[in-house]
Amino acid sequence: MTEAPAVPFLRPQLPPLTEVQRYFTLAEQARFYSNGGPCERLLRERLSDYLDGVTCIPVNNATSGIIVAVLGATHHAGTRGRGLVITPSYTFVATAGSVEALGYRPLFVDVDPESWQIDPAALERALAEHGDDVAAVLATHTFGTPPPAGLQDRWAAACAAAGVPLVVDTAAAFGAVDSTGARTGTGAHTHVFSFHATKPFGVGEAGMVTTRDPELARLFDGIRQFGFAEGRVASLPGINAKMDELHAATALTVLDTYAGVLASRRATAEYYRLHLEPAGFRFQTGAAGGTWQAGYLQAPDPATREALLAAGRAAKVGITAYYERPLHRHPAYAGALLENDLPVSDALAAGALALPMANDLSDAERSRVVDVVLETVKTAS
Ligand SMILES: *Cc1c(COP(=O)(O)O)cnc(C)c1O
Repeated sequence: MTEAPAVPFLRPQLPPLTEVQRYFTLAEQARFYSNGGPCERLLRERLSDYLDGVTCIPVNNATSGIIVAVLGATHHAGTRGRGLVITPSYTFVATAGSVEALGYRPLFVDVDPESWQIDPAALERALAEHGDDVAAVLATHTFGTPPPAGLQDRWAAACAAAGVPLVVDTAAAFGAVDSTGARTGTGAHTHVFSFHATKPFGVGEAGMVTTRDPELARLFDGIRQFGFAEGRVASLPGINAKMDELHAATALTVLDTYAGVLASRRATAEYYRLHLEPAGFRFQTGAAGGTWQAGYLQAPDPATREALLAAGRAAKVGITAYYERPLHRHPAYAGALLENDLPVSDALAAGALALPMANDLSDAERSRVVDVVLETVKTAS
């Protein structure tokens, strides 16, 4: 009998260097390796074409991209000197970590139990109570899934009414489409994407900030290069968040075949849904248009989740829990403000599962994952 295959949680895949070289040659010929060389300029154009004409500003990762975006947006809105940034607790630590690094105290709001995205009523309450102290709202597209149509507009309306800028951490959402067919990042607000090796659009350490506002674009561009807005005069506080030419060349190469990457991940996700929804597992609203960094779902109950983590370890199948611990349960955020007790974030964390995902997960691998899950559920009940 052949042994069942081990299936890793994630299996990142960057393009072969020989293909990256086709673009990187442009930089070599120009003897220009960063600071807006030919690969980065071409990448800006291609990304902008992909996102319906939005201005795309490459950065070295999404964490510094959030710092650039929040610095620029709060400077522009005149809210920079305030103390709080509203953000969900049900997200990755980098969301709140970047605003902490800017000296802001997070104010955590709860998420909706079906979409796992910021509950607009909670955001409205937080703004009503603390609006004058809020520098920015840093929303997310949880797990790279677009919020249901109209939800982000409601966040934006609440922010506009309170005079607070909206920045959206769409780290894993490059290529995501909502139920109206709109791609994440094509809207009017500032979005921040990650091109980390483990994201669906995997480049290494890289990312991008997007906006449709020319003044914000000018600010973001300046802040990511030492605050230089005109020439070498620093008119803004700045960091170095530039993307170098090798990463820009890699991103161009990834973009060439990205449609296939998304199709393959969505097919695996659909296979999981087809087999696991009837067994009591729940999927995120809108996830069909998501990018599927991993196979995110909710276990029927926390005990089943624990049994599945153990079964995955025993079978060498990478079954993981994401997000297992909302940010208000991390020691680093013990000093954050909470809009309420965040019961939905806690409940989602207790049931959270993430199944193996890769650009090239084979039929045998994904059926192995489903077998391990269904066998465990059967034994547990
Ligand atoms: C991955 C991720 C980040 C961090 O992205 P980097 O490019 O690694 O800095 C931030 N926020 C969320 C929600 C993420 O998933």
